[in-house]
Amino acid sequence: MRVVLLGPPGAGKGTQAQFIAEELSVPAISTGDIFRANVSGQTELGRQAKVYMDAGDLVPDEITVAMVTDRLAEPDAVDGFLLDGFPRTIAQAEQLRASLAGRDQLLDRVLELVVDEDELVRRLSGRRMLVEGEWVQRDDDKPETVRHRLQVYREQTAPLSGFYEQAGLLSRIDAIGEINEVTGRALAALGTGSASAGVPAAG
Ligand code: AMP
Repeated sequence: MRVVLLGPPGAGKGTQAQFIAEELSVPAISTGDIFRANVSGQTELGRQAKVYMDAGDLVPDEITVAMVTDRLAEPDAVDGFLLDGFPRTIAQAEQLRASLAGRDQLLDRVLELVVDEDELVRRLSGRRMLVEGEWVQRDDDKPETVRHRLQVYREQTAPLSGFYEQAGLLSRIDAIGEINEVTGRALAALGTGSASAGVPAAG
């Protein structure tokens, strides 16, 4: 199955991507994670991407699309994938469609995680990640960068919702609730998942 996970920063894309991809037995491919790995590895790609990431801006399409095209050509992604954080612009979406079409492939579904903006700001400002045993705030989760990232989302990424709706591929998922409830809703929209998916955790 070939699936795109769409949603604003703080909607829980990374977490849901892991669970959904595991259930579908496909790799979860996160452009944000690939960029961050390149930044910590101090590669040329990381050096180019860091300037944009630190400002809360999108990395230019030509850098991002080339990186994703390479990743999707790897053997583990040939039979399916779950893309987390890509595409983020209409241009990226069109290039993804063209690059899949070149291999006689199509996307099966696009899941949009929906969370209202007050909840996003609350989640992002409290979010921490574990780096070498320490909980740290991502540079781009600082309050002023968060506001800018949400604006970038509204302007450049939110139009993808209509783009994929027109293509008949979009399912909107209410992303408020327990993690496993949200996963259950996503799997139901994909027409897959175990019988227990979506049942809230006891207690
Ligand atoms: P994320 O972890 O998905 O929130 O991504 C973190 C940052 O990586 C974003 O704020 C962008 O600077 C960059 N990034 C990730 N995915 C993309 C993409 N598809 N296009 C452009 N920039 C991206």
